[in-house]
Amino acid sequence: MLAILHPDTPLDSEAYRETLHFLENLPGVTLRVHEIQGAKQKLTEIYLLGETKPLDKDEIAALPAVERVIRISDDYRILGRHHDDLRQNGFSYNGVSFDQNNLNIFAGLCAVDNQEHVDIMMRALSEQGQHCTRMGAYKPRTNPYSFQGHGKGCLPWVFETAGKHGIKVIAMEITHESHIEEIDNCLEKLGRPTGVMLQVGTRNTQNFELLKSIGRQRIYPVLLKRGFGITLNESLNAAEYLASEGNANVVFCLRGMKTDAGQPHRNMVDFAHVPTVKRLTRMPVCIDPSHSVGTRDRAPDGLLEVVHATAQGVIAGANMVLADFHPKPEKALVDGPQALHMRELPAFLADIQLCHETWKKRRNLYTTDEGPQPA
Ligand code: PEP
Ligand code: MN
Repeated sequence: MLAILHPDTPLDSEAYRETLHFLENLPGVTLRVHEIQGAKQKLTEIYLLGETKPLDKDEIAALPAVERVIRISDDYRILGRHHDDLRQNGFSYNGVSFDQNNLNIFAGLCAVDNQEHVDIMMRALSEQGQHCTRMGAYKPRTNPYSFQGHGKGCLPWVFETAGKHGIKVIAMEITHESHIEEIDNCLEKLGRPTGVMLQVGTRNTQNFELLKSIGRQRIYPVLLKRGFGITLNESLNAAEYLASEGNANVVFCLRGMKTDAGQPHRNMVDFAHVPTVKRLTRMPVCIDPSHSVGTRDRAPDGLLEVVHATAQGVIAGANMVLADFHPKPEKALVDGPQALHMRELPAFLADIQLCHETWKKRRNLYTTDEGPQPA
């Protein structure tokens, strides 16, 4: 059960003390308090865990600090959507909003290779009015002898270049908890010219200790990739690990499933799950067409298959797109064969916008004056 307090309830108020005293003394129930700082107000949520079935919802709703009470199911307690759950979805970070209705595009390099390419990429994005990118400094590689990323050494010039071009958020994968500190120290030293969304890659989706470390910090939002060989439920539970440790600013990324059945694509594209994740949880949903399709094959209509897959995800309501680009794909140190060329960027962005607008129009087709049609 979840008790949502009146916005901005002071923790030293009599109403809060009385409410907490009552809840703390419920037999068999333990409490977990979550504070969410929104743009305008602070929300306090108290999760009641344990023997909550016999509790009287109305009695708890009548406590002085409580605004409303929601009965929640066991799955995805914090990030899930529950019956009667009107809680808002999404969050804001470094001036960029992420929610289940809007769309942000993170086109960029799979891996940071050199300063020139980082500059070309970010300049092109900025010229197209973009303020987000993807760029990996720590790369998890199948082969231990492959390029592993430049690590913390490249962070200063990557962050400075981002600041120069007005890039506000960089999605950057981390593979170890020490990387959080490396990123944080570097940003702090430079006066925070940009922001970082910490990415958990598909190989680490169930690295629970990494998830807990990332979840314990509240500065950086998280992009959690679906595990490529586990169920959707297992991946959503992995996201809940982040929230249960305190960080609910999570975007969930679909990136395809590893199976030969997906061939000739690198993975089996799973973007039919975009609306499903939005139904089950309050997380904004990202699609990663580059790692799903993994090729630059062109369909007879002239469009790349990776571009078609992007459109399929966005038209189904995706809220974020992660896409690999490179000034010279043939020279890229990681994932060159799936990278789009810089000259393809304007059409790609325009296509995504078209699909996002179409999603909004599609949504209106099924909405009556009273709101969405009942399930
Ligand atoms: C990536 O985004 O560069 C990456 C390694 O993705 P994934 O974890 O989905 O393989
Ligand atoms: Mn990659």
